[in-house]
Amino acid sequence: MVFSEVAPFAKTGGLADVGGALPLALSNLGCQVRIVMPFYNRFVEEFAGADPVVENLPVELGSQVINTDIYRGQLNDTVEVYFIRRDEFFDRTYLYGTPKGDYFDNFQRFTYFCKAALSLCPAVQFQPDIIHCHDWQSGLIPAYLKHLVAAEDYLAATASMFTIHNIAYQGQFAAKLFPQTGLPGRFFSMDGMEFWGGINFVKAAIVCADVITTVSPRYSEEIQTKEYGHKLEGVLQMHRRKLHGIINGVNYEEWNPENDRYIAANYSRENLEGKHMCKLDLLRTVKLPERLMNRPLIGVVSRLADQKGFDLLAAVMDKFMAYDLGLAILGVGEDKYHTMLTALAERYPEKIAVRLEFDERLAHKIEAGADMFLMPSQYEPCGLNQMYSLRYGTVPIVRATGGLYDTITPFNPTKGEGVGFRFTNYKPESFWDATKKALDLFSQTETWRQIMKNGMAMDFSWQSSAQQYLKLYEKTVAEKKRAGGSPATERGTGKKKTGDARQRDKA
Ligand code: ADP
Repeated sequence: MVFSEVAPFAKTGGLADVGGALPLALSNLGCQVRIVMPFYNRFVEEFAGADPVVENLPVELGSQVINTDIYRGQLNDTVEVYFIRRDEFFDRTYLYGTPKGDYFDNFQRFTYFCKAALSLCPAVQFQPDIIHCHDWQSGLIPAYLKHLVAAEDYLAATASMFTIHNIAYQGQFAAKLFPQTGLPGRFFSMDGMEFWGGINFVKAAIVCADVITTVSPRYSEEIQTKEYGHKLEGVLQMHRRKLHGIINGVNYEEWNPENDRYIAANYSRENLEGKHMCKLDLLRTVKLPERLMNRPLIGVVSRLADQKGFDLLAAVMDKFMAYDLGLAILGVGEDKYHTMLTALAERYPEKIAVRLEFDERLAHKIEAGADMFLMPSQYEPCGLNQMYSLRYGTVPIVRATGGLYDTITPFNPTKGEGVGFRFTNYKPESFWDATKKALDLFSQTETWRQIMKNGMAMDFSWQSSAQQYLKLYEKTVAEKKRAGGSPATERGTGKKKTGDARQRDKA
């Protein structure tokens, strides 16, 4: 598994939650899983018990050879993590960029990361059946496996899976950087990684991976359309036979009100009493007045990015405030949203609390203390917070897109079924209509309790998703074996590459 972030070592969003949980679930199913990620700072030495296992491993980046140290630590007793250490690339305040924008050298940082991840396999004597890559930061790995690994190389029989956690982040860079990838010149083409005159890591992965997945069935359909494909819809349609949707799971060891260590009182579906205490604790923590105990309290925990629907939230804010409710927002991200949310909190200090930081503890307190949780996302590949909310009896109000569509069935008052509230059109009126429905039902205590309990009974644990991944791994590896384990370029032709051809590929 190659990840650019893995909880608890480094996290900006849901990707890290998957990185910290899916390997464990697979390991429980009997897979031997090893993770590769960057060594961001010395924190991992303490946290993962990481020690250097390989020193000065040479990794090529363009014409440079970069000496690399590999550290090995543990995610738990069974899953090892290799950390790639090169401080000038990874020892920074943020993972990918500051609130003002991406780091200028992300191309070098993650091209190097992909190369190093492959180089470390022979160095630590680990020959994986399949390398499972996640998002653009590891997107070049399938391309390297396909175009640079020769039939007799250490990784010749290794298959690749690429998971799209968010198609909006593609790793796009200027064409002039292409030679530094070391990929064959012909790969800078329409059926390679060329994209609107530049290069694109996700496109490289889509074209080259043996199998592609994305994090919900609905999103796997959506990304093949113009509305959601971020210009990769055509390429995805072409490769749709190898595209699958597998919903992310929840790590209930971390996210469970029955034993959550961060919240004021534990509670369960059978005994909801503690939730009251959690609401009071949340109001006190974010310094909202306690009179809001009698009003609906709505929570938001989110990266502050365009996709998350903050423009819709701003558009309905006056209606929200007229209804007299509390809003606790935790988020960090783009500057423009910091400004917008700060202004809202200043305007309604008695009703809106905004915390612009990354705070794991407060995220748990919001899940437990809020009555409702908002995710009006423009698009949402899977979304985890709505699933956390369900377990905490915090009723989600979501836009019907991606994983939100797949996990949140709307409440049906006639049947008493359903777990939340949904709207379809990305319009303030539709968002408000859905929220209004929730607010109106909130005062009907019995019905509201039913909705909470319906949600708390849902089970999105990793096990079933991990089983689906395992099935796909087995199928992909078997197909690769049938094709003779030779690089995908040659698969099906039965031809072996000559040394000359390989040289040309590398040139
Ligand atoms: P995305 O991956 O798009 O950010 P997800 O809903 O899949 O969205 O996952 C978000 C994860 O990041 C959740 O675990 C959420 O609790 C966490 N998170 C997001 N922002 C913050 C924050 N400011 N503080 C703490 N946790 C956060």
